[in-house]
This record gives sequence, C-alpha cells and structure tokens, in this order.
Amino acid sequence: MSKTNKLIDFNKPYLTGKETQYIQQAVEHGKISGDGMFTKNCHHFFETKYGFKKALLTTSCTDALEMAAILLEIKEGDEVIAPSFTFVSTVNAFVLRGAKIVFIDSSDGNPNMDVDAIEALITPKTRVIIPVHYAGIACNMDKIMALATKYNLFVVEDAAQAIDSFYKDKPLGSIGHLSAFSFHETKNIISGEGGMLIINDERFIKRAEIIREKGTNRSAFFRGEVDKYGWVDIGSSFLPSDIIAAFLYAQIENLDDIQSRRKTIWEKYYNLLEPLQKRGLIRLPKIPEYASNNAHLFYIVCNNLKERTSLIEHLKKSNIYAVFHYQSLHKSEFFLKNNKAISLPQSDHYAECLLRLPFFYHLTENDQERVIDSINKFYL
Ligand SMILES: *Cc1c(COP(=O)(O)O)cnc(C)c1O
Repeated sequence: MSKTNKLIDFNKPYLTGKETQYIQQAVEHGKISGDGMFTKNCHHFFETKYGFKKALLTTSCTDALEMAAILLEIKEGDEVIAPSFTFVSTVNAFVLRGAKIVFIDSSDGNPNMDVDAIEALITPKTRVIIPVHYAGIACNMDKIMALATKYNLFVVEDAAQAIDSFYKDKPLGSIGHLSAFSFHETKNIISGEGGMLIINDERFIKRAEIIREKGTNRSAFFRGEVDKYGWVDIGSSFLPSDIIAAFLYAQIENLDDIQSRRKTIWEKYYNLLEPLQKRGLIRLPKIPEYASNNAHLFYIVCNNLKERTSLIEHLKKSNIYAVFHYQSLHKSEFFLKNNKAISLPQSDHYAECLLRLPFFYHLTENDQERVIDSINKFYL
C-alpha cells in the first residue's frame, strides 16, 4: 500500500509519556486501591482549576450518573427530561431507579437540547433536567437553571465530553447541582475507562462519599471524623483504583497542551470546510456566543442520510474512517417496548446526517488535508 493511502483512523488514544511512570509510582507507594495519592491529586486539580465544590473520581461517567440518580433519590414514576440524541448512559442511570424519561428534541442550531421546549414538558412529577453538552459545546445554562429554580428541579450536567469547556465564564460541570465527566479513551483526557462526579450542591457531598464507598462511612473514618466505619446507606463500588488515577494524572498535567493541539486541528477543519458550507452542501458546528469550544470532536452535518452514507463509503475507499454518532433514543427498541412513539425531528436529523471526522492529538496536517481533499472530491 502506498504511503499516501495509509489508514486514517477515527480515534487514537493519546499518551503523554508519563502514564506508566506514574502507575509504577502508585504501585511502589503501596496503596493501589481507591482514594490513594493520585486520586487525591486529581481531585485537587479539578477542584482548584475549575472551582468545583467537590470532585470524586469514579470508574466511569456512567457510574457518576448512577450516583447522581441515587443522590437525588429518584424513584418509580419520577420524570427526567433528557435529550434523545445522547448516549444511553445519560438516561439508563435514571431508568435503573425507576424514572420515566421524557425525551426532548435537539435544537436547530446544534444537537444540544432545545431549551425553549423544556417548560412544556414539565409536570408535577418532573424531578431532573439533564443537559448534555454535545461535542463539549455548552447548553444554554441560564435558561435551564432558571427553569430549575422556578419549578424546584435538579440539574445534572452530562459533561462527559465537556472537560475544559465553558458557559460564559463558568466551567461546564460547575453549574448544575451535580455533573458527570468521562475519561473514556475517546474523550479529550483519558484513563481508559474512568469518570468523575462533581457535586456543586454541598448538601450532597457527605452522602456522595458514602454511596461511592459501598454505603459505608469509610471516607469519614479515614479522616478521623468517626471512630469506626460501618453500613450507613445504600451504595456500590464506584471508586477507581489509584492505578487509573495515576494514568489520569499524567493526562491532566498535559491538559493545556492537549487542548491547544486539539483546537488547532478543529480550526483547520473548520476553515478548510467552510467553502462547502457556503455552497450549502454541508453544515458546520455552530457555537453559540455563550459557549466555548473544547475541541472534543469535529462533525459536519450532511443534507440527508443517503448523502452521508455515500460520503462514509467514499472516505472508506480512501482508507479514512469517519463515523456517525447517536441514534435517537426515542426510537430505540427499549424505549418503544415501554412507550408510545413520539416525534423529535431534530434529533432524527442529527442521527441521520451528522458525521464525525477523524480527530485525535496525533492527526497530522497531512492527514487532515487528505480528509478534506477526499470530502471535496465527493462534493465536486
Ligand atoms: C462518553 C459519554 C458517556 C459515558 O461515559 P463512560 O465514561 O464511558 O461511562 C455518557 N454521556 C455522554 C454524552 C458521553 O459522550
């Protein structure tokens, strides 16, 4: 195979080089279960850099969301408003506790929830709104928080993709009562699998520590606040080994470098694809003025499903892997088994037309130009 036709994958995890060194340190330190030295360093980093009231590493974002549902005492029949265009974990965490998911459509400008459609969905049973900051682009948090105050609801930010991104001057994850981040290998900073629960409402801090430690007050015990520890609540094992935290710590030390590289790649895609947008052939991400761009992913929106399918095939022939994203959850087998069909056209539009381009730290300028050339040839 010629060099010019080498595979351009969709994603490749980026290693900063210090991961194994820190893992070795964690091992030598002798405490490799949860809440060791590296976990504490990670908590401290996120709390000081972003002003989160409390950060708790978890084994995944999914786990952080499950903790949120337990903390909010979600029970059978409670209603939770969430976008249909999202990952299953956003809602599964609440379904596990008996919640009914009330799906909301995406907005016209980007895949985030249409905040103007929220109020009509609120009933006396509504307990939670879950904004998902798709591609790390902020939802309109002022409007969401105002509705939460007006109707006495909780807000859980699904900030899985939103590390180091902002709504106005506020870091995402710092606005909702609770927030969940992911460090899965597809995200900006990674630990293989991994996540983090953020607690901004202080009322939940104590109980969060207990739920994360199998329903025991072990954390308080280790701080010397109680003289023995025991079973005090429901819970599970949500905390990661310090080996995972050691990996993550190597990543967060390089956060600024990672972000700056990703932003450069993002800008280049945007600038080189703008001519196609001007000709009406594709749409590019629209970033509202209140939102920052953390360059989590780069997508284009094709005009229809048929065109997207052909474009994916066309790129594959050049050995370039571009992938679509979520399928609308309101059309999933699981939802339709238990609920009536509903219509959310914008969510379906993104499910059918959105295409993510290869995007990772080591994507070269040359690779990017090959991707753009191939897309340009498709629309020629
Ligand atoms: C990645 C992702 C998750 C799940 O994260 P895990 O760490 O894999 O559990 C949840 N929600 C969204 C929006 C995501 O992108």
